[in-house]
Amino acid sequence: MNFDVVVIGGGPAGYVAAIKSAQLGKTVACIEKNIDDAGKQRYGGTCLNVGCIPSKALLDSSQRFYDATKHLSGHGIDIKNIALDLPKMMDRKDGVVTKLTSGILGLFKANNVTPIEGTATLLANKEIKVINNVGEESTISADNIILASGSEPIEIPIAPWSENITDSTGALEFTSVPKKLGVIGAGVIGLELGSVWSRLGSEVIVLEALEDFLFMADRQIARDVFKEFSKQGLDIRLGSKVISAKDDGKKVTVSYQTSDGDESLEFDKLIVAVGRRPYTNSLLGEDSGVKVDEKGFVTVNEFCETSQPGVYAVGDLVRGPMLAHKGSEEGIVVAERIAGKKAQLNYDLIPSVIYTHPEVAWVGKNEQEAQSIGEIKTGVFPFAASGRALASDESVGFVKIVADKKTDTILGVHAFGPAAAEIVQQGAIAMEFGSSAEDLGLTVFSHPTVSEALHEAALAVNNEAIHIPNRKR
Ligand code: FAD
Ligand code: AMP
Repeated sequence: MNFDVVVIGGGPAGYVAAIKSAQLGKTVACIEKNIDDAGKQRYGGTCLNVGCIPSKALLDSSQRFYDATKHLSGHGIDIKNIALDLPKMMDRKDGVVTKLTSGILGLFKANNVTPIEGTATLLANKEIKVINNVGEESTISADNIILASGSEPIEIPIAPWSENITDSTGALEFTSVPKKLGVIGAGVIGLELGSVWSRLGSEVIVLEALEDFLFMADRQIARDVFKEFSKQGLDIRLGSKVISAKDDGKKVTVSYQTSDGDESLEFDKLIVAVGRRPYTNSLLGEDSGVKVDEKGFVTVNEFCETSQPGVYAVGDLVRGPMLAHKGSEEGIVVAERIAGKKAQLNYDLIPSVIYTHPEVAWVGKNEQEAQSIGEIKTGVFPFAASGRALASDESVGFVKIVADKKTDTILGVHAFGPAAAEIVQQGAIAMEFGSSAEDLGLTVFSHPTVSEALHEAALAVNNEAIHIPNRKR
């Protein structure tokens, strides 16, 4: 069997690349090894099965529970006997996942992508060996091959997986609310999953080795986020490097180092969220000719071309942020380039979001990064001054715009607060069109919306905000 394009891996990078290639007139197959309990293929990768989607389903459900128990009475709504039905919450999450993963097979059918079940290994001469889940072996070939095998959670030897020491996947499936929950790593995944279980009633302690909180975020945002999460009851201990975790089957004892000496804590469950690494098990045969760097990422250039002509790699398997939308866009770029188009991805404008409550999001350069390059100006607008945010009881946080001092070009948009992800997305669109702060300030925003905070932050860049009482004169 020969195809124009074969994609290995059916996550958001791979399945999007496959659909796009088919839309561009190629014959396409997408090989995926993941199967469900009934032996049916499950596309969607980490994102749909054990990542973005189930985590957001639980973040949403747990926030509703938290609001019902903590916030609704403030709105004059008195609900008696609020109870958590965790199995039902998990069923809802699983239902969302199944709907979306099975939807991909429908998209493949509609676009003429051939699904192939099995574990694929790239051989020499653009041949691929596939072993399906009953052990049958076949070989297919392709003119172009796109590697998209994704990533896996990092297991650290000091805290090996066990009944009560789990990765993010296990933390999406707890069957009861742990009384005391430890999280190693205050990165995006640690904060999101810590928030879920904290809202459902766990006492959560997050141990983070670094002294800096959210080192990749704007410092002003990181400071406020830390304060707000602490207020919500997330106990985040910075400068706390875990050195051992022992599970005796009932409790997990965690030892960690701080500048004041060694400490130890006991937890019912421990989530290890110290990052992910590229997944290349079985992917590359000895003579595949595809180079891998010292961290295991497949080496690619800016167009996702590997060291082997006609072989591409996209998504978590290659350098750059491990984000679904980054992988999908790389998939599209590669599909278009295979079809002879001159596509490329703007890596400077990939938005990041932490789906806590409130959300944290940013795109482009933060104040510190921009300052190190040239002269800048900033505009900040607090949600406390937004009519819609106040009406919705969501007045924590702010929007911040970083712009070039001379040209007024927007260099970065940062938000912590209601709908921060959507607000930053608007900023990303503006930046993609080369917008200045003035351009955004001249745009009419609906009233009352939380997006008006973006408008006011843009005006604030040039000291023209209307609803800031203490503006600079
Ligand atoms: P994957 O999604 O990992 O897919 C790779 C696929 O390849 C898998 O299905 C695997 O079974 C298959 N495969 C691997 N090897 C082979 C082989 N040899 N043969 C056949 N098939 C193979 N990102 C966001 O953008 N937003 C979020 O909100 C977000 N939340 C997350 C929450 C959690 C808890 C986690 C863990 C991750 C989250 N991510 C989020 C990250 C996101 O899931 C990944 O960036 C994304 O899934 C990467 O896509 P990918 O296609 O490169 O790889
Ligand atoms: P991320 O890569 O965004 O998922 O974040 C993982 C976080 O885990 C980083 O901030 C690391 O500093 C942190 N981390 C890694 N190892 C340890 C450890 N042994 N103890 C505490 N924190 C850790």
